[in-house]
Amino acid sequence: MMDARKVLQLRPEGLYCPAGDFFIDPHRPVDRAVVTHGHADHARPGNARVMTTAPTARIMESRFGADRIGVLQTADYGDKVSLSGVSVTLLPAGHVLGSAQVLIEQQGARVVVSGDYKRRRDPTCAGFEVASCDLYITEATFGLPVFRHPPDRVEVAKLIKSLDLFPDRTHLLGAYALGKAQRLLMLLREAGYDLPIYLHGAMAALCDLYRAHGLDLGELRTLEGVKKQDLKGGIVLCPPSALNDRWSRGFGNAVRVFASGWMMVRQRAKQRGVELPLVLSDHADWDELTATVKDVGAETIWVTHGREEALVHHIRTEGIEAEALSVAGREEEGS
Ligand SMILES: [Zn+2]
Ligand SMILES: [Zn+2]
Repeated sequence: MMDARKVLQLRPEGLYCPAGDFFIDPHRPVDRAVVTHGHADHARPGNARVMTTAPTARIMESRFGADRIGVLQTADYGDKVSLSGVSVTLLPAGHVLGSAQVLIEQQGARVVVSGDYKRRRDPTCAGFEVASCDLYITEATFGLPVFRHPPDRVEVAKLIKSLDLFPDRTHLLGAYALGKAQRLLMLLREAGYDLPIYLHGAMAALCDLYRAHGLDLGELRTLEGVKKQDLKGGIVLCPPSALNDRWSRGFGNAVRVFASGWMMVRQRAKQRGVELPLVLSDHADWDELTATVKDVGAETIWVTHGREEALVHHIRTEGIEAEALSVAGREEEGS
């Protein structure tokens, strides 16, 4: 069997598979890219050829324009695809619609690149699949023991309670436009909130795309022609950046809500003037990370994309070989 640690190398453009001649989530344009999901720190325009899932391809088209993403090759989860003789299989990562882990098989060695992932249920995408492998490359965005994400329904209940408490205030709900926004909408609907939800203009395209994939987000309205008075006691979904810009001041005494894994850090909520922080992440928390590195049964774990040191240390204490892998060009989107 081939040494799994030789299947991929780190190049300036990103993780590279020499035998298959492809990069995974390159941060500079390359000849062939395998893309794990649509967030901006993973999917970029300008590659000559792209292999990814069909939903991620649609997300890339929506964000960059169809003419800027190269020649597409889409694969369903579980399909074995040969790239220059190396077998590549995309597996659900549970992160956002279309998100995939990449399984590479070369001469008996099995390597899995996680991309971003989470283990808990998400009504907007397929659940994470554990794939046994020799080498697992895990993200570590929330790779510190302080990061433990509470149950989703607890966080959503806080928002619903606030709507009851403050029927005269508009709730501006900041959420990343890809993934978090749609997950929040579905969680609100599951919690019984069935009133129309208003969308900032920047949220519309991706909500439409999720709906085109069969996800029922309930009644959504644009703000066009709506009087501010009529939004009191309601929800306006907006990008996180809009919580602090001029746009948000037009809503008077609004309740600023931000849903993110980073809301575990009180300082971050304060900096943004967030009155109601909701801890809702599309990434694995510490418990999910440490469970996953065991579940995959790999001899070697490479840790990348976040807080590497603490997780590397933890994995080594479990008797598993671990290294930090510093991939450049990571400005996390959608945490
Ligand atoms: Zn992501
Ligand atoms: Zn990421």
